[in-house]
Parts: sequence; C-alpha cells; structure tokens
Amino acid sequence: MKRKARKLMFRRNYVEPVTMAVLRRRDQDTCRICGEPVDFSKRQPDPRAATIDHVRALTRGGPHSYENTQLAHYRCNAEKGAC
Ligand SMILES: [Zn+2]
Repeated sequence: MKRKARKLMFRRNYVEPVTMAVLRRRDQDTCRICGEPVDFSKRQPDPRAATIDHVRALTRGGPHSYENTQLAHYRCNAEKGAC
C-alpha cells in the first residue's frame, strides 16, 4: 500500500493513541498470535521484533484502538497479511 493511502486510512480508523509500552504490559511481552515471547532487542524486519497488530485489519475497517490491537512478532503480523 502507498504511504499516503495508509496515512489517510489510519486517520479514518483512529480511535485513540496506542503505545507499545501499554501493549507490552497488557500482553506481558508475548506475541498474541503464536504465544511466544517477543524479543525487544530486535528491530523490524527481524522476524522476532515487536509490532502492533490490528486484530481486524485497518484495511477491513478495524479501529486503531487498544481493543483492536495486540502485540505480535513482525513475522506473525506479516504472515497474517493486511496490517
Ligand atoms: Zn508470534
């Protein structure tokens, strides 16, 4: 997806700021897709790096909110497809 399109969609689905620090505490540093711990010393595109995953993808109208986000590995998030 083009950068500009993503930004526009993000604005439309925006509910509240979602920070990694809060998700880490809530999800206890664990990937909610595979259940394995996330390695915070790694950065994308390392497959073990942490990402904020939208349970229902932004492209499918999912909101950007704590309710619709979870901690996930870069690998798991990428396998799921649409972010
Ligand atoms: Zn995972």
